[in-house]
Amino acid sequence: MSFYFFTYILKNATRVFMKNKCIFLDRDGVLNEDCSDYVYKIEDVAIPTGVIEGLQKLKAAGFLLIVVTNQAGIAKGLYERADVWKCHAYFQEQCGHLLDDLYFCPHHPDYTSRSLLRKPGSLMLEKAIAKYNIDPSQSWMIGDRHRDVEAGQRIGVKTIQITASAQEAIGDYHATNFSEVTTRVMASI
Ligand SMILES: [Mg+2]
Repeated sequence: MSFYFFTYILKNATRVFMKNKCIFLDRDGVLNEDCSDYVYKIEDVAIPTGVIEGLQKLKAAGFLLIVVTNQAGIAKGLYERADVWKCHAYFQEQCGHLLDDLYFCPHHPDYTSRSLLRKPGSLMLEKAIAKYNIDPSQSWMIGDRHRDVEAGQRIGVKTIQITASAQEAIGDYHATNFSEVTTRVMASI
């Protein structure tokens, strides 16, 4: 066996057997307080207690942390892509750059176009799975809407919906805040 063939096998075996686990995170209503209006200004980014501590624990447990967020305010002309990146940069500053990536969908079927990126579509998650070599069976989707859970279910990750009451929630588990999410995920590993 040539050296090059051996390294080719090793590299691909690593990709097959050493997959990453990931927490997919909705943004508004999970990482920051959801306003009745759209959050696109830094001064409106309010991070609930327990979010940064939770992200630190999950990161230390070996999870990638990837945000997947619908940002239809762009399609509606309320703000621009640059505003999403500014809020993301601010959040990264606040949490010590714990987030590995951010995917957002700027489309809306009533304003611009339909898109498989828009949750409950799963294309944002599928892109991340391909790029980061993620194993869905070890991964989670955390969101506050049914469409977040549905996007997660499409790719076979475990799901937690954050809602005030369990009756409103679908998916595998319910939580009322991010601390409960962290406890649930940590209990599974
Ligand atoms: Mg949300």
